[in-house]
Amino acid sequence: MDDSRASRLADVLSGESSFRIRQAEEALYGGHFRSWTETASLPKVLRERLEAEIPWLSVSKVAIFPSKRSDAWKALLRTSDGNGVESVLMRNSRNHFTVCVSTQIGCAMNCAFCATGKIGLIRNLSQDEIVDQVRFFRGYVADSKLSGEITNIVLMGMGEPLANYEEVREALRTFTGPMGIGTTRITVSTVGLLPGLDRLVKDPDWPPVRIAVSLHAANENTRKNMMPTTSTGFLDRLVAWSHDYAEAFPEKRRHLTFEYLLLAGINDSEEDARKLIALSRRVGKVRINLIPYNSTDSIHSGSDANTVMRFKRWIESNGITVTIRKSQGGDIAAACGQLAGKTVSGERITNSG
Ligand code: SAH
Repeated sequence: MDDSRASRLADVLSGESSFRIRQAEEALYGGHFRSWTETASLPKVLRERLEAEIPWLSVSKVAIFPSKRSDAWKALLRTSDGNGVESVLMRNSRNHFTVCVSTQIGCAMNCAFCATGKIGLIRNLSQDEIVDQVRFFRGYVADSKLSGEITNIVLMGMGEPLANYEEVREALRTFTGPMGIGTTRITVSTVGLLPGLDRLVKDPDWPPVRIAVSLHAANENTRKNMMPTTSTGFLDRLVAWSHDYAEAFPEKRRHLTFEYLLLAGINDSEEDARKLIALSRRVGKVRINLIPYNSTDSIHSGSDANTVMRFKRWIESNGITVTIRKSQGGDIAAACGQLAGKTVSGERITNSG
């Protein structure tokens, strides 16, 4: 049974005019209201039915943790079945906000360096729970009188987006449709699940958002040790897929990104850089985003700042576009790889019943 908000909304609104349907949708997703009660333009009877039958938000706030630099806020949210979800709001220097959303509670990918993987997969998030992390933060930005607005979304929180393909796709359609976020302002980050990658290039309903693949190593054995989901022949298949992707989304602004987490002594040598350069050349249109390691309780340590800079120079001197990700929210355990659904006291919120 489809119990998504969209289908419940369709039930409540069946028989209403297309004008009313648009009005209700605009009320939910336009970002101007905080509850059905505020939507004075809807007839009272309809408003009361909506209020009774369609919860305004599918997640509720447990706590917000602001970073010391006031550039990141981690929200611990609770789902209706009592699980904890973490999302992060980040502010850049131009007062634009990005929300980093989770797509699953926990994650089954088990990457060696990531805190979320240690939990294992608890369940997929629904499209509404994915969308509502952004709707929650829109309300938070307004309530806290933070100036600026949410312009960007990254699907880089807990979970593997392509392991929850349909719900993620529907959430993307809501972001890019009624919520009005541009497709080039949304990035889906994936461990590189090939069936999911293959599916999205052929899927007419998949919005043309940006894709970032967590590559992290251009040597298959190194990658297998870091990321156990790496299949034999993965790198060759990724190169082949990237050509399909470039064909399906030919515009330059749909460029593909490879994320590359730098771990000391694991994937940060000149030889590793050479392999990455060779792989990038085979792909063609790709940017590299180097990610400094955020500490988790894994055995790894990040490459030092000099090594990161040196690695960057190796890549760029070969004419490949490369950026270094600025880490935000490390002091509140909100940076990449640190989300584990924990409160500050370290207690985990999951529904064990
Ligand atoms: N499952 C998706 C998205 C979630 S993680 C994916 O694998 O891409 C978002 C990014 O953070 C990924 O590139 C991931 O590899 C990276 N990451 C995980 N642990 C990290 C850590 N400890 N420090 C820095 N980045 C990390």
